[in-house]
Amino acid sequence: MPQPRSSAELGALYQEMILDHYRRPRNKGTLERPDAAVEIKNPLCGDEIGLQVAFDGDNVCDLKFSGRGCSISLASASMMTQLVKGKSTEEIEKIRQQFRNLMLGISPAVDDERLGSLRALAGVARFPARVKCALLAWNALERALADRAP
Ligand code: ZN
Repeated sequence: MPQPRSSAELGALYQEMILDHYRRPRNKGTLERPDAAVEIKNPLCGDEIGLQVAFDGDNVCDLKFSGRGCSISLASASMMTQLVKGKSTEEIEKIRQQFRNLMLGISPAVDDERLGSLRALAGVARFPARVKCALLAWNALERALADRAP
């Protein structure tokens, strides 16, 4: 992928990534035997997300989401599942904190490569009403991890 030359190009690239995840969501569906299952809603926007997680020891070995809502909430859920799959709960917690920082506009989260495609959502920080959309899947994940904790 060529490096974008301007912030306008970067914005267009990010917009494209969001639409791509919205149109072709990764890890959408349900698991046969989830270890944790969470349903969560964002009443402000009408977004609904169901998240199912399977663990292998301390790692999230598989997860799938279902739901409906705006492009931000569904793209964020898709990106989240892709990014955390196979990672330990400790790594996931760091990413979750950083993504929250990104949404709250706290730098230098935007430069954190661990966030991967989630950085495409950086622009959402300028729209406080949409930050809840972007964080919905992460709130579901946080709850799933907590449900599972001994
Ligand atoms: Zn929304």
